[in-house]
Amino acid sequence: MKEILQDLSFAELQALVAEAEQPKFRAAQLYKGLMRGGRISKISDLPKAFKAWLCERFEDESVRIREVLTASDGTEKYLFELADGNIIEGVLMTYKYGRTQCVSTQVGCRMNCAFCASGLGGLVRDLTAGEILAQILLVNARFGGTAGKRAVTNVVLMGSGEPLDNYDNTVKFLRNVTAEGGICISARNISLSTCGIVPKMLALAEEGIPVNLTVSLHASSDEERARIMPVANAYKIADILHACDVYFQKTGRRYIFEYSLVAGENADREHAERLAALLRGRPCHVNLIRLNAVPERGLQGVSDKEAYRFLDVLEKSGLSATLRRSVGADIGGACGQLRASRLREGE
Ligand code: SAH
Repeated sequence: MKEILQDLSFAELQALVAEAEQPKFRAAQLYKGLMRGGRISKISDLPKAFKAWLCERFEDESVRIREVLTASDGTEKYLFELADGNIIEGVLMTYKYGRTQCVSTQVGCRMNCAFCASGLGGLVRDLTAGEILAQILLVNARFGGTAGKRAVTNVVLMGSGEPLDNYDNTVKFLRNVTAEGGICISARNISLSTCGIVPKMLALAEEGIPVNLTVSLHASSDEERARIMPVANAYKIADILHACDVYFQKTGRRYIFEYSLVAGENADREHAERLAALLRGRPCHVNLIRLNAVPERGLQGVSDKEAYRFLDVLEKSGLSATLRRSVGADIGGACGQLRASRLREGE
């Protein structure tokens, strides 16, 4: 594969323009064209020769939208194709206050959580910073958004992949997506979800990019967690909580725990009570998630009644908690489900 032009910051584009012996103002034209989600060869105000020069070294179209599915509730599921033919997916949720896009950070995933479709085929490769950014630029452009007037207002790193297992590219992406003059989505409007890679959580706290930190907890003891999340064998809950506290101290941002309710594993009253005891007094919020059953995984979710009962235990003990509204269930809304079904069909 050639290089990905969207990996470059504006300063790096300026250096590239100098290397190509083009006038300085071309950098702004090029940046604007990229921020509009365009492929290199279609940026109208650049000379043909310069575009040809760029396309020698960079992918003309690093990411393209291959398929869009729309759920009955308006949620959109995207299948993106990368320049090397790999496919990834994303979700767009439309709310009163704006649009939230869920992006992937890797092709596949090596965490292999027991309920998740993304890990079914293991990790194929990391996405580059520009491949993560391009997902947003394409969807933003689809809704008529520009760099100055964004159509995509919020971003969650909750698609396929573990962002902190692709740390350098993810941080570079965060710098570029928050950069002034670009699409400039504020760190406050970005959530990064991790399965709890403690050293990288601590590193992220030092980066000066105060995104909302979301941790997939899914259990309140290390033993129970390891049954559904192999990564629990490497990092203990106590260390994850410590890293969350460091993150809070450094950024002032309250952190969020995700807890997907899995029948027979973590969803009984006793589990709710233990979770409440574990988290009481912490500057956190708990987001309960209904399981999106993945056929290959053989695990089941719980009824609405059981989910609300679980929520009730948390709330009564004084925790801030919500049961996430389930959107896009009829289009395979959860991580990796669309890609898995397309791979199943023999794509
Ligand atoms: N690797 C990151 C991002 C993953 S996806 C992480 O682990 O946090 C975002 C959330 O969806 C995670 O909490 C993940 O555990 C959860 N999830 C994945 N597949 C799911 C499914 N089929 N049903 C419910 N939640 C799921």
